[in-house]
Amino acid sequence: MSDFIPGDILEPLLDVADVEVWDGGGHVPRASLLEKLATCGGWLSMLSDTIDAELLDAAPGLEVISQMSVGVDNIDVAACLDHGVVVGHTPDVLTETTADTAFTLMAAAVRRLPEAEALVRAGAWGPWDPWHFLSGDLHGSTIGIVGMGRIGQAIARRAQGFDMPVLFTSRTRKEIPDAVRVDIDELLPRSDIVVVAAPLNDETRGMIGRSELGLMRETAYLVNIARGPLVDTAALVEALAAGTIGGAALDVTDPEPLPPDHPLLDFPNCLVVPHIGSATLPARRAMARLAVTNLFAFLSGEPMPAWLPGSARQRLGD
Ligand code: NAP
Repeated sequence: MSDFIPGDILEPLLDVADVEVWDGGGHVPRASLLEKLATCGGWLSMLSDTIDAELLDAAPGLEVISQMSVGVDNIDVAACLDHGVVVGHTPDVLTETTADTAFTLMAAAVRRLPEAEALVRAGAWGPWDPWHFLSGDLHGSTIGIVGMGRIGQAIARRAQGFDMPVLFTSRTRKEIPDAVRVDIDELLPRSDIVVVAAPLNDETRGMIGRSELGLMRETAYLVNIARGPLVDTAALVEALAAGTIGGAALDVTDPEPLPPDHPLLDFPNCLVVPHIGSATLPARRAMARLAVTNLFAFLSGEPMPAWLPGSARQRLGD
């Protein structure tokens, strides 16, 4: 185990395996990880672990990696296939929570909550003024969702409650109720809020760059709840500095963690939170439970409930 997992959730594994939990505090240092994995058959990993050919070479007995996240961009899935290692992950159980986070970020950014709160804390709250601290409205704004998967669709369902027209991009044709599929070049200039919800891979890295930001409205907000490198950070800083977009709200950044002197933090209209998309107790417990269930299933010779078909074939099932 790369990190702490609550004992009640871990318990089923104790019946089918000798379990070792990292107790060194924080993340496992790479050297310790390689040493431990040399004798492991299964591993419960975190998105902060870099899983590459070097690590897999150092773990000749490893048959299964069960990661406690839905995104697997830290894993070289092709290398896992080469090494015959099956990869599990935790989709679905964090979808609604992450969509809540996207909506929270959108509302906070559009209604300028961080700026308003900073003003109160600075003792600058003056008499009520009908023209003070105005913003756009969240309700009725057009939302453009880039990556209409589980989380994108959960965001779209919430948008309907706010009377927000929904546009989306996807590589595959899909019918989403009350949402219109368009090309990204059409989505960007038509959206008041652009939400990035696609996985990070070679195709999507930097997909929101200078030219995409240049297509956005001057009043529009960019919200990223997927992975930082989907957005070109330097281009975003430029757009914020030039005022060519209205602002941004980022749960994820590139780099991560964002250093305190990073230029993104110079903009009052750029809200940054520390990758808390799925960080509720119920969601994290459900993710831990699914990660353990995946491991338990594999080690018991049963089909894993959530595994990446691209990683390897399971012992049982397809
Ligand atoms: P998902 O169901 O697999 O949805 C991702 C969607 O993105 C897919 O349906 C796919 O639709 C679309 N997509 C893939 N490549 C694309 C491309 N090149 N251009 C446009 N769209 C593309 O995954 P999910 O559960 O919604 O999660 C999405 C991502 O969110 C995860 O991979 C993870 O990195 C991130 N995430 C972040 C947090 C957080 O804490 N901030 C929490 C959970 C998840 P098409 O095949 O139709 O294109």
